[in-house]
Amino acid sequence: MSDIIQLIKDKDPEQKEFHQAVAEVLETVKPVLDRNPQYRKENILSRITEPERVIMFRVPWMDDTGQIQVNRGFRIEMSSAIGPYKGGLRFHPSVNLSILKFLAFEQVFKNALTTLPMGGGKGGSDFDPKGKSDHEVMRFCQSFMAELFRHIGENTDIPAGDIGVGAREIGYLFGMYKKLRNEFTGVLTGKSLAWGGSLIRPEATGYGCVYFAAEMLSVKNDTLQAKTCLVSGSGNVAQFTVEKILELGGTVKTLSDSAGYIYDEKGIDADKLAYVMHLKNIQRGRISEYAEKYPDAVYTPTDDALDYNPLWDHEADCAFPSATQNEINGTDAANLIKNNVTLVAEGANMPSTPEAVNIFLDNKIMYGPGKAANAGGVAVSGLEMSQNSMRLNWPGEEVDNRLKGIMRSIHKSCVYAAAEYDQPGNYVAGANIAGFVKVVNAMLDQGLV
Ligand code: NDP
Repeated sequence: MSDIIQLIKDKDPEQKEFHQAVAEVLETVKPVLDRNPQYRKENILSRITEPERVIMFRVPWMDDTGQIQVNRGFRIEMSSAIGPYKGGLRFHPSVNLSILKFLAFEQVFKNALTTLPMGGGKGGSDFDPKGKSDHEVMRFCQSFMAELFRHIGENTDIPAGDIGVGAREIGYLFGMYKKLRNEFTGVLTGKSLAWGGSLIRPEATGYGCVYFAAEMLSVKNDTLQAKTCLVSGSGNVAQFTVEKILELGGTVKTLSDSAGYIYDEKGIDADKLAYVMHLKNIQRGRISEYAEKYPDAVYTPTDDALDYNPLWDHEADCAFPSATQNEINGTDAANLIKNNVTLVAEGANMPSTPEAVNIFLDNKIMYGPGKAANAGGVAVSGLEMSQNSMRLNWPGEEVDNRLKGIMRSIHKSCVYAAAEYDQPGNYVAGANIAGFVKVVNAMLDQGLV
């Protein structure tokens, strides 16, 4: 086991996030390997940690001043063991091979947990949509797709959105794909409703994360009613996490973006959430403006000199990290425990560092890791693919019910797998083991390919 991790580190020493994601999975699946010697014999770990394909390309585009800009584009096709590659595109200056390989690796197991036939992939660019005009974003998306189109397809690889890729970007990407291929197919998910999108897709990751939290609470005969919650981020996942928490009777006191966070002692109610959605999705403003509009709220700018995030240092019952990777470190995790938080459900991918995860597990709080708790987004993407294939649209209530059913089933799989391997209540082990076994068995069925 440690041999494989060392090998991966030696091969790509700078890919820290990828090492972190691989180590977390491999450490928890050790008992599975011990019980199934054929997995080691077939060298499954070396195979599953090497992407099937990595595509890297130049994305040249012209800005509004007539200057030519160049960004780097990527698509990691990690595993097609149980279906076509599926996973989002991230546009953010921090994007590099390490981050995308970690996300693609996580995606493989997450997709397996959804019960739908989807392999795992991830892609994106170091392009920053923030501060760009709509025309600049469009020209970038068109250039990005001018290369990506030859690698994807409705039966091959179906990208979706992620950080920095919302409805606007999906629209421009789809338009270019359609023009180049001369076909109208479900090659991207997260499309607008009028041209192939699914109801509940925008809501799915946030809603699904809260459904997963509700499932964890139900094991203890508890609910979200009257629970105080801390949410980070203020994008797609955070917004619909807040919406669902409010619907289930909880209170939300925080939101953030990369520049800082707001703490609203009175709670972010439905009207304030509508303001945030308009601010973020239409005006593309900053969360600091919330405190100007609602003076009771306190805005705290991000302070890089601090070794902890003050957002996580408030009294609460539940935490929903919904911004980005490694946003909760060991100090933050200790602060959450000190402040009486007993549930953490990850809307973001890998938001907790390994030290933070260990603190949650040692304190035996309800901790839902991203690959289980935030699988609702890709699950409804899978439902969007089904609707596109059948060329029909399901009503919102039907999609929402399916989403609830899928989150319940993911929760159950985690609980069963953890119990089967003598780690009851450990959702990290449960999620990794359940996803791993499914993918690995499919790989063995299909021979050495
Ligand atoms: P959005 O781009 O809509 O929102 C991201 C939010 O996180 C913004 O508020 C952004 O602030 C903040 N953020 C991003 N990077 C950082 C950073 N380095 N430090 C602090 N804040 C940051 O993305 P999503 O809501 O779609 O994604 C959020 C998380 O959820 C990601 O980890 C993503 O991988 C994960 N996820 C998303 C799914 C989806 O369906 N969209 C599905 C499953 C997981 P700012 O505007 O200042 O950058």
